[in-house]
Amino acid sequence: MARMPGATWMPITVNYTLGGQREVRGVVLHIMAGTLGGTDSWFRNRQAQASSHFGTGRSGQLRQWVDTRDKAWTQGDGNSRWISIENEGRGGDELTDAQLDRCAEVLAWAHRVHDVPLQSTSDPNGRGLGHHSMGGQAWGGHTSCPGPRIIAQKREIIVRAKRIIAGTPDDDQPPAWPGRLLKYLTGRPMMHGADVRAWQAALTQAGFKTMVDGWYGKTTAANTRKLQRREDLAVDGIVGPNTWRAGW
Ligand SMILES: [Zn+2]
Repeated sequence: MARMPGATWMPITVNYTLGGQREVRGVVLHIMAGTLGGTDSWFRNRQAQASSHFGTGRSGQLRQWVDTRDKAWTQGDGNSRWISIENEGRGGDELTDAQLDRCAEVLAWAHRVHDVPLQSTSDPNGRGLGHHSMGGQAWGGHTSCPGPRIIAQKREIIVRAKRIIAGTPDDDQPPAWPGRLLKYLTGRPMMHGADVRAWQAALTQAGFKTMVDGWYGKTTAANTRKLQRREDLAVDGIVGPNTWRAGW
């Protein structure tokens, strides 16, 4: 299984080749020229004949549509040898700070799991962090994907990926879902405990500052709903397995 912990797993059932990945030379950056939600719908449409392994949203979402053992249909002849990240935005945009972090996390994960070197490359036969237009006609001739401003950000993504590799052990994984739904109960008693504390710390880390007191009160529930809205999950304030995973 080659699914990235920390990415929201949103598998598609069409537009990819099961078991078609021959090797992983590196990670290729793309720009969606569209939104994360629109891209998600498009990849589920059989007519698209297109997909990507990963996708980032401008506010920091990270989704995985295709297992990296399988071939996504993103960059023509480069498909079976590279894994791909589609990034939300318009042509000419820079990646946001949150997108740089997500791309660095994917690269660091690909380094651990697929031995991708933490270096930049502009060579379709090279290895490391690449970008779509480097493949020329054989990769579909997308000369403006992802554009010069994002290509200039590759260096920063590599710096951040190196920091992740230096700072955390190889077995760094998000904690397993505690197996019970964390939710706000009206009146007393509130839910309380170590699971709630871990969730509050995750919410804070995800950008929704929450007091880590171990009590699942109104503020924790409100911040959970904000996270769910950002991640396009059902907005119910209840921490099921998908919401839990989206927190890390
Ligand atoms: Zn592209």
